[in-house]
Amino acid sequence: MPTQLQHAREGTVTDAMERVAARENRDPEFVRQQVADGQAVIPANDHHDALDPMVIGREFATKVNANIGNSETTSSREEELRKLHAAVHYGADTVMDLSTGDDLDGIREMNVEHSPVPVGTVPIYEAVTRVDDVLHITPELLLDVIEKQAEQGVDYMTIHAGVLAEHLPLTDGRTTGIVSRGGSILAQWMEENGAQNPLYTHFESICEIFREHDVTFSLGDGLRPGSLADAGDDAQFAELDTLGELTRVAWEHGVQVMVEGPGHVPMDQIRENVQRQQAVCDGAPFYVLGPLVTDVAPGYDHITSAIGATEAARAGAAMLCYVTPKEHLGLPDAEDVRDGMAAYRVAAHAGDVAAGLPGARDWDDALSEARYNFDWERQFDLALVPERAQSYHDQTLPGDNYKDARFCSMCGVEFCSMRIDQDARDADGDMEAIDGQVDLSESPAASVNLPPTGTHDTSRVPDDLADHDHPTDELSADD
Ligand code: SF4
Repeated sequence: MPTQLQHAREGTVTDAMERVAARENRDPEFVRQQVADGQAVIPANDHHDALDPMVIGREFATKVNANIGNSETTSSREEELRKLHAAVHYGADTVMDLSTGDDLDGIREMNVEHSPVPVGTVPIYEAVTRVDDVLHITPELLLDVIEKQAEQGVDYMTIHAGVLAEHLPLTDGRTTGIVSRGGSILAQWMEENGAQNPLYTHFESICEIFREHDVTFSLGDGLRPGSLADAGDDAQFAELDTLGELTRVAWEHGVQVMVEGPGHVPMDQIRENVQRQQAVCDGAPFYVLGPLVTDVAPGYDHITSAIGATEAARAGAAMLCYVTPKEHLGLPDAEDVRDGMAAYRVAAHAGDVAAGLPGARDWDDALSEARYNFDWERQFDLALVPERAQSYHDQTLPGDNYKDARFCSMCGVEFCSMRIDQDARDADGDMEAIDGQVDLSESPAASVNLPPTGTHDTSRVPDDLADHDHPTDELSADD
């Protein structure tokens, strides 16, 4: 069966493209053209029955991925299902199952079966679990794992094919070395075997597997910077050049491609990073992890990274990989998934508004209108996380009678500025124009609310004040 890319090139608008167009409020022909040109991807494995197709591309709403998955020390099938539900409930557009612990096949199959959003994986993680030493991973094992996961219905896979042996010395002297799990595993393999990256040497074989099942490449950034000090170094950009080359190879095979990006990047370098990837990879969608704009806030890295993610989205990144408060510290649980998702939905939307994506601000305008009209129920419904908005409101004003109140507990009845503003307006919602000619002495307010100007007690001011250069010094001396 042809891939979405092959269909698009042939001029066919698929059911998936129709569905995506409806969800994005765009013309199906526009979606087809974007996919045909490699500027957007629709990750949709033929075997993923529960999938509701979505699109990733800079011309569409910025998407958010949530990483889930177990580790060798923590988590279970039930907990993984909870995380999947939390991620989708809080708005994840895709999920990546990054499991590295037990029951990899069972958890992956469960995720594909239950997920309405595309599921991504990093196949080298499973390859590592199948050998007693990383050294013993073979190209055949990697292809075997990739093919099995493709048959299981995985929609996109991170393939770290751009980490080349000749790039590794470029990481010498880095503050944080190689921080990508896939990148570090492959670097160790290349160093110990004295051979080139097998994902690079066998890239065309991977393309054939992906084409058969319509799996989308997520070309991994195995040499991404893990600290501000390493951002934008030669290793990062040497790998990016290789990713550009591999993008074109995949396209020749009719396979969809997106490209992953950093990581940790100072705020002032983010736009340049996005523009460079877009130029090197001919506009293939950019999928960025954060980036974190500072290294100093473990425990709050959903915030440090959401700041960078907003700028990346504004500059043209197509998908953001969320970061949770547990980043650098531990395996996220369902609550961390919720907090990470909320931060990233804000980042994606704020980026779209700032970039002027058609219709992006309608949501803001609708919520602001509900807010000004004291339509509390609608404000809750429109909120990014409705249940949180309502629970915060109801903590202090729980009764139903407060659902149409013209105030909340923040300013209270007397000081609610929106209530005061509305009361000051006429029936049409307008303020009366003030021409500045009103005689305030005629106003009843004038006698009780005179401004203080000109009412100083001057009895202690020296008569010759005007002759002194520093009158306040003089006053102090007299005191
Ligand atoms: S009381 Fe203050 S915070 Fe609450 S609705 Fe009025 S202006 Fe807004």
